[in-house]
Amino acid sequence: MPTDFYAVLGVGRDASEADIKRAYRGLARKFHPDVAEDKPAAETRFKEINEAYEVLSDPAKRQQYDRFGTVANGAAGPGAGGFGGFGGDGITDIFDMFFGGRPGAAQQPRAGGPARGADLRYDLQITLTEAFNGVDREISFNHLGQCETCKGSGAKPGTLVQRCDRCGGSGAMRSVRQTPLGQFVTQTTCTKCGGEGTVVPTPCETCRGRGRVERNRTLTVKIPAGVDEGSRIRVTGSGEGGARGGPAGDLYVYLAVVPHPRLRRDGTDLYLDVPITFTQAALGASLEVDSLDGSVPLQVAAGTQSGSTFRIRGRGMPTVRGNSRGDFLATVHVVVPAKLSRRERELLEEYARVSGDHLDERTFFDRVKDAFRPD
Ligand SMILES: [Zn+2]
Ligand SMILES: [Zn+2]
Repeated sequence: MPTDFYAVLGVGRDASEADIKRAYRGLARKFHPDVAEDKPAAETRFKEINEAYEVLSDPAKRQQYDRFGTVANGAAGPGAGGFGGFGGDGITDIFDMFFGGRPGAAQQPRAGGPARGADLRYDLQITLTEAFNGVDREISFNHLGQCETCKGSGAKPGTLVQRCDRCGGSGAMRSVRQTPLGQFVTQTTCTKCGGEGTVVPTPCETCRGRGRVERNRTLTVKIPAGVDEGSRIRVTGSGEGGARGGPAGDLYVYLAVVPHPRLRRDGTDLYLDVPITFTQAALGASLEVDSLDGSVPLQVAAGTQSGSTFRIRGRGMPTVRGNSRGDFLATVHVVVPAKLSRRERELLEEYARVSGDHLDERTFFDRVKDAFRPD
């Protein structure tokens, strides 16, 4: 009974290598016998998934399967039993899922599969307002992308990628040593295929067999509200393409937030310095000050001292998770007028007389002493 490998992975016949990989990873994670609830059923399903993946992930086998509905060499035919039946690729994939995903950690070539592409870093500057609201930013960068001519296989179109004959496609070479303490098995990367498990007898002319070419790429990065200086956004699969059709690395967008001309940020709190007049401080005032999301009412009580801080809860920066907001803190500073109109001067002198302020009491020498006193 022929199995429809596309149906097993739940992908269309035109699925890209990345689609197949994604579908496979999702299913393998779900049905891996170590994690699934119903172990015997999961084991059967897991075997099917791996058979399908082994064929569809290999450009040559997939071509053969598409044309003949079966794969002749038997390695992945229905009934290939046990967990040893599928190539090393399936196993390393599962290890990647459980232990991988760290930047820089996955760049070593894996035994038994094409190497994953390198992760990339892109530094992006945004304004505080953009950090507050979130923003979609288009970025453009050069990376090694999959070669269109050979679809990343590295083989000249019309020729096939071949299983490496030295390691039998596993990418690794085992040597067994007998010692008085028992058998020691050492595993090294295959010297012929460099651990990829495949060789390209006739390299593609566009990429010279590397499967990748330098290309400019433009994509839109979704920056969520609440990000801060140094926040990092991962765009999965947008790093360098993998060698010979291996999985792509990830793109990491590192954010720098340009300082705001008036507002200062500390975590999720926003700080603003507000100049007020002596009369506003003395008599009290209802003010409106600008934050990132419009005006914030500020009630200055009568008798407020210069340097006092008002905290308005919930009007600061949002958290990235979006469930709360920090506070808005306004510090008022009394500004003394540098110039007075004649009427203002009269009124202030009147005020000074009423409140008993002595404006010209000290002697000339007192004032000179004051001027030279260090403060
Ligand atoms: Zn190519
Ligand atoms: Zn090899």
